[in-house]
Amino acid sequence: MYQIALITGDGIGPEISESMIKVLEAVNDRLDLKIKIEKLEAGDNALKKTGKALPESTLESIKKSNACLKAPVGESAADVIIVLRRMLNLYANIRPAKSYPNMPALKNNIDLVIVRENTEDLYTGMEFDLGNAAVALRIISENASRRIAKYAFLMATQRNQKRKVTCVHKSNVMRKTDGLFARSCNEVAKGFQDIHFDQMYVDACAMNLIRQPETFDVIVTTNLFGDILSDEAAQVVGGLGMAPAANIGDDFALFEPVHGAAFDIAGKQAANPSSFILSAKMMFEWLGMKNNDQKCFEVAKKIESAVYGVVQNGIKTKDIGGNITTSEFTEHVISNIT
Ligand code: ATP
Repeated sequence: MYQIALITGDGIGPEISESMIKVLEAVNDRLDLKIKIEKLEAGDNALKKTGKALPESTLESIKKSNACLKAPVGESAADVIIVLRRMLNLYANIRPAKSYPNMPALKNNIDLVIVRENTEDLYTGMEFDLGNAAVALRIISENASRRIAKYAFLMATQRNQKRKVTCVHKSNVMRKTDGLFARSCNEVAKGFQDIHFDQMYVDACAMNLIRQPETFDVIVTTNLFGDILSDEAAQVVGGLGMAPAANIGDDFALFEPVHGAAFDIAGKQAANPSSFILSAKMMFEWLGMKNNDQKCFEVAKKIESAVYGVVQNGIKTKDIGGNITTSEFTEHVISNIT
């Protein structure tokens, strides 16, 4: 039995959560997968109701679960996800950008993963007023840089595709911080002689993600750069509606769409739930690996091929060039689960 904590979030969060739950229930019925989902509150709505964006009870339930699925939260995102990442030591943020058929994509045949350091950089919230100016602390440590580099190399080994890691930084300008990050990746690379290693400045990477995205395999980078590049990569393959992500630590993991709460389309049945459904697919892969449970791998495959089949048949939500609603899309995915 897997106990799954689910934060339903704000904006389109509750809609895509409903879709994702329905898909999991369908898989559960067909494969007798023993999962129990507990819905939890966090985000803007929780803040209004309880005075806390991340209530203690939510945190306690997450800690008791096997994994967490988190829909996007709104304005209070920093008080929820950044806190959870740090508190649970979810140091690796994994953001795949993969081509699906019939997408309004810039290019096809893309299968890359951005491995983003998740605990340091400018996202630690250490910002101060200094007279008429404001300063932010950018912390990059050797330990965290080596840890994320190792994760990226292991991922390139496991994926067994182009067997390549690209370290992305801007060490020509940020000589101390990114200099340390680049050096750490370089050191770790020496232990993985069978994986091709290269380095790229972040501006060149932003350009190459448009120009020749198919040449990338695993990109390893710092927190802020990873956040920006993964939105870009998502758009290159067809848009945020198809983009899942994982936040992984040594003992626990949290899975969430790359996108935010998308208030502009909330409640309009216009959200593409694939981002969250594919996040659940990533969760099953992680549970499979952690517990050596083949059934979880089977479930992950079934979920992905159901989504793949639906878009291959040209059945799509508006964001990816179609005209069907969130609920209709969900029903198609469910009927595609074999
Ligand atoms: P954040 O800064 O929290 O990541 P954001 O304001 O940059 O959020 P997002 O919510 O990530 O914006 O999304 C940007 C736009 O992309 C949305 O306004 C919405 O129109 C579109 N979008 C995002 N996710 C989806 C989705 N799942 N389905 C359809 N459209 C989406």
